Amino acid sequence: MGALMNPLYEQMNVSVFERMSSLATRFGAVNLGQGFPDFGWPDEILEAAAKAVKEGSNQYAPSRGIMPLREAVAAHYNRHYGGNLVGDHVCVTSGATEALGAAILATIKPGDEVIILTPAYDSYAPMIRRGGAVPREVALQPPAWRIERDALERAVTDKTRAIIFNNPQNPTGRLFDSAELEAIASVARDHDLIVISDEVWEHIVLDGQRFTPLSSLPGMAERTIKIGSAGKIFSLTGWKVGWMVAPPELANVVARAHQFLTFCTAPNLQAAVEFGLDEGDAWIEPMKQRFARARDKMTNGLRGAGFTVLDAASTYFLCVDLKASGIDLDDESFAAEAVEKAGVAVVALSAFAEDKPPRHLVRLCFGKKDETIDAGVAAMARAKELLA
Ligand code: PMP
Ligand code: GLN
Repeated sequence: MGALMNPLYEQMNVSVFERMSSLATRFGAVNLGQGFPDFGWPDEILEAAAKAVKEGSNQYAPSRGIMPLREAVAAHYNRHYGGNLVGDHVCVTSGATEALGAAILATIKPGDEVIILTPAYDSYAPMIRRGGAVPREVALQPPAWRIERDALERAVTDKTRAIIFNNPQNPTGRLFDSAELEAIASVARDHDLIVISDEVWEHIVLDGQRFTPLSSLPGMAERTIKIGSAGKIFSLTGWKVGWMVAPPELANVVARAHQFLTFCTAPNLQAAVEFGLDEGDAWIEPMKQRFARARDKMTNGLRGAGFTVLDAASTYFLCVDLKASGIDLDDESFAAEAVEKAGVAVVALSAFAEDKPPRHLVRLCFGKKDETIDAGVAAMARAKELLA
């Protein structure tokens, strides 16, 4: 039976997020593994969704998304970053994961190479391979995780077609600076590459930092496919409403890949997200403050328990350095022991790279209520006692 199936999927692991969440359930552990907040979504948007279910459409939406949402996405970005986007630049998808899949399938051809910066979100490499292309990892080094232009340049060959860039970056929690954005942009311009810019964390940017979309750099609008997600903007990760934004010539092609992945996304959730984008700018600043407080609480708690915590100033994630914390286990072993014996699920960073990944770091989701953070920190302290 096995031999009949695609080896890419036969040999693939279940995603680290799914594995850790199911272990958290099995062992009754605090789940700081998979990235989802347990607070923070605005009630108004839930009410808008409920109303749309009752009174709006529950039949297929147009494949590229309902036009009011496409226009709301364009207007949201024009307001936040400037620009002249319109609905034709936007294709609504079932989460950013689908947008990434469609963008990758629509961009690459078999035999192409795609540069990814590791640690990288786990869907990139499998989708690149499924499209017949080869992922080329450029490894960023902890704890600074800086992008060096030379390292990018060295990864380019005559087969390179695209770069997948993730800013702010999951799992490192880094917002890249202007020199690093310019490094990506200049390599893309010099070698005529498409950049799939995964910007799902654009609004979870803490400590007064400002996010710059890659497409705003000179010469980048025409070659950037931006990926966004309402799941992150509104702390509603289960809604799986995302989008990609690109010049209409590119967006039209990505939309053709999208039409045969999911075809369309739940119309009532699209209507609620449209409401949220139109009405919800005032929700963003308090949300950042609240996530910053959660980040501080978890960081201080873990440091108090003797852990070395890397600085994180965006996304829902922070990283703990096991080695520097006196724990001599690799990240996978620590994650397996911690969930079973100490009651806390975390994610091993080696899940985000294939080529000699660091094995001394684990990722924790700090986007949690105080009680969850307290329980999680207490469980991490137990893990340290058991495993150090
Ligand atoms: N890209 C990155 C970098 C992410 O962190 C996530 C989710 N955490 C996604 C894509 C997927 O987003 P969605 O849930 O909208 O599919
Ligand atoms: N993006 C989330 C994370 O990084 C997980 C999403 C998923 O489970 N597919 O934890």
